[in-house]
Amino acid sequence: MNVLELLGVSKVYGQGPAEVHALWGVSLTVGEGELVAVMGPSGSGKSTLLTIAGTLEEPTSGEVLVGGTSVGGMSRNDRARLRRRSVGYVFQDFNLLAGLTAAENVSLPLELDGVAAKSARELGLRALDELGLRERAGSFPDDLSGGERQRVAIARAVVGDRRLLLADEPSGALDSANGETVMRLIRAACQRGVAGMVVTHDAQLASWADRVVFLRDGRVVDQTSPAAGPESLLAPNP
Ligand code: ADP
Repeated sequence: MNVLELLGVSKVYGQGPAEVHALWGVSLTVGEGELVAVMGPSGSGKSTLLTIAGTLEEPTSGEVLVGGTSVGGMSRNDRARLRRRSVGYVFQDFNLLAGLTAAENVSLPLELDGVAAKSARELGLRALDELGLRERAGSFPDDLSGGERQRVAIARAVVGDRRLLLADEPSGALDSANGETVMRLIRAACQRGVAGMVVTHDAQLASWADRVVFLRDGRVVDQTSPAAGPESLLAPNP
């Protein structure tokens, strides 16, 4: 099933002489369990694509569907709810709140969504556990290593039953070994059924994805094909 579908999405910022076409008719799908990397030079529209996919911004034309539902037809409230419940973000600098423990950071999105504190905490601990961080649940971000902070950020992005994980240069501030770790963790989240879309400028990291989409001047200029599944071995020879 497609968790994210972008159909002919265009985005224009500004008007008249100041008009900028950030995206031109971009179509792209990300299925359950799939990890897609988005690459392209600076200014090619990668961040715009990610914010539109995360329903933080509306396209000028085209359609965005999350979990099969068209976002364009939703009320602002419904869209906010969808964002809170289904979409997780990993930011470049992780954006953990220094005054909250790891567990509190991870369960915060659930509490903001009205989940009772006890259930939110349990779900938060489960997400930390999946990332091997349960014993650090009571630590504050300043007492965690850089690698542990990344993992808390990823736990926060997948807590509850978030189905879409969006990451903008999640390894931007990290050395290459840590960048690989982040991608491996995102990959593992996808293996548990999450659909992932990651912007990166690093081809080595993009190679962790099932598919790489290349943007240039707001257009998809190339796309690697999805890896052939095991069933391809069973296909009869032509
Ligand atoms: P990338 O992430 O690949 O660097 P962006 O999506 O940030 O590219 O930007 C694509 C184009 O849209 C750029 O020309 C940028 O200047 C423009 N742009 C992005 N956001 C805005 C905005 N809020 N207002 C005006 N122009 C914008």
